[in-house]
Amino acid sequence: MATKRDYYEVLGISKGASEDEIKKAYRKLSKKYHPDINKEADAEEKFKEVSEAYEILSDPQKRAAYDQYGHAGTDPNYGAGGGGGFGGFGGFSGGGGGFGGFEDIFDSFFGGGGGRSVDPTAPRQGADLQYTVDLSFEEAIFGIEKEIKYNREEVCHTCHGNGAKPGTEPITCQKCHGSGTINVERQTPLGRVMSRQTCDVCHGTGKEIKEPCPTCHGSGHEKKAHSVKVNVPAGVEEGQQMRLAGQGEAGENGGPFGDLYVVFRVEESNIFDRDGSEIYYELPLSFVQAALGDEVQVPTVHGDVKLKIPAGTQTGTNFRLRGKGAPKLRGGATGDQHVKVKLITPKNLNEQQKEALRSFAEAGGMRVEEQQEDGFFDKMKDAFGGKKRK
Ligand code: ZN
Ligand code: ZN
Repeated sequence: MATKRDYYEVLGISKGASEDEIKKAYRKLSKKYHPDINKEADAEEKFKEVSEAYEILSDPQKRAAYDQYGHAGTDPNYGAGGGGGFGGFGGFSGGGGGFGGFEDIFDSFFGGGGGRSVDPTAPRQGADLQYTVDLSFEEAIFGIEKEIKYNREEVCHTCHGNGAKPGTEPITCQKCHGSGTINVERQTPLGRVMSRQTCDVCHGTGKEIKEPCPTCHGSGHEKKAHSVKVNVPAGVEEGQQMRLAGQGEAGENGGPFGDLYVVFRVEESNIFDRDGSEIYYELPLSFVQAALGDEVQVPTVHGDVKLKIPAGTQTGTNFRLRGKGAPKLRGGATGDQHVKVKLITPKNLNEQQKEALRSFAEAGGMRVEEQQEDGFFDKMKDAFGGKKRK
């Protein structure tokens, strides 16, 4: 294992530095080595080193442990594999690896004085669950009530959760006297250290079950099919979620059920696009409809709507149908439907149609430039030295 630098040295301060001096040194160095500012190769490494030193020295309890034991007092992985002993801390129940494990390590160093300790018999809330609900495009817009079915842990109906065979009771664990933890003496490079571990007889529950319940084999829980009605609100979108309190797994020691997170997956529409409360629709029109004007039926999620197409409508023109979009989830007005015109050029014309178009062209219908409003051809003329276009 690489040798770690002394935290005081990293921050460039003396062992007796005040909290204020530590803060000042950290501010200065973290700015200097911040990877967004400092582009040198080892800046990120230095920045991490400074942050770690500050995390320890700015916390009076961690600083005290560091002063007393050095890196071994604060880093659960320090010296692992070298001296033995300390490697065992990684498995300490309740704490995660790395920094998350501090409290547990401090509990063991300081005999639990002032630290948090977990009562194994205290009620604990059950785990949360997640369920994906598939919705059609319209269901997401208008909302719907759906019944969903899933399996979850519930309190065992045979033993009512205590895990003991009916007619018997769990007894207080004789090894840990109900605390769920036992003290173990360890030989470390620093001498003998007491550490606390989960009791191996009761696995932290503080109770011993001599004759386990035949249904749940002592766990106190059993998997059961469960169903719940979900009121999908109007206007939900893909990926949004809803919390249903108490619909997750059963708790421990009579604790409440966890929650159920319902995640919505919304089917796409072949006709519409949706962005929040706004709906987009592309309207195909023949050039005759666009040129002469027309009245057309436009589909919306609220049913067909009549739309007047004024004569001379261009491709790409947008019309807005107010209130024909999706409702806003948090109240307020319903969104709009946006209709974008797409002109369709006719294909496979018969002889009569071709003839009509030729007559149209002869009648002046081919002279596009006269109809250009914003002078596209004028700009072209300018670009070619002002020559007149014939
Ligand atoms: Zn025990
Ligand atoms: Zn049971």
